[in-house]
Amino acid sequence: MEHMEGLCVTDCEQCPELVESRSRIVNGVGPDDADLLFLGEAPGAKEDEGGEPFVGRSGSVLDDALREAGLARADVRITNCVRCRPPDNRDPKTEELANCRGYLAREFELVDPELVVTLGKVPSQHLLDRNVAITNEAGSIVDARLGDESYRVLLSVHPAATLYDRSQREGFFETIARAADLSGLADSTDGQASLDDF
Ligand code: SF4
Repeated sequence: MEHMEGLCVTDCEQCPELVESRSRIVNGVGPDDADLLFLGEAPGAKEDEGGEPFVGRSGSVLDDALREAGLARADVRITNCVRCRPPDNRDPKTEELANCRGYLAREFELVDPELVVTLGKVPSQHLLDRNVAITNEAGSIVDARLGDESYRVLLSVHPAATLYDRSQREGFFETIARAADLSGLADSTDGQASLDDF
């Protein structure tokens, strides 16, 4: 893809409103061959400022859940459905999701994760191409096609949901622990995790 170098979009102006509201393109972070890939919706203010997905309060919840599952942020790949911040934190529009889809397909293809975890309703709907009642469907595993490939997908609520509603915290943490198991990462990092506990 012409505006992509490896896993990073370097230059793109396909979504006029997002080009207006962003201060930078926020690409995915983490290993380029990660077994576990987290997919969010779009950069927010903090992500736009820092140039990294899932920083700020939602990012802390994700980091806590990863730690409890014996993983570190550096073990996983984290990316978003659209790479530019929507104005006033609105949801990305259908057309914007479609514009950015090719970059996401390329990232998925190159990383080739064992498991994708969708963080919230928007990324779940984007991959499954149907309405998703995320609170009810969180924890489900489905296959989804993106580009020419099919991926195993575990649906999850957005980490911010645990901040609005504490009762969702346990389920979110369980889903992330399950993701660590299903991707095979829980086993491969066991030794490191137990060392880090002391
Ligand atoms: S959201 Fe994606 S497609 Fe739209 S301008 Fe940003 S990088 Fe390009």
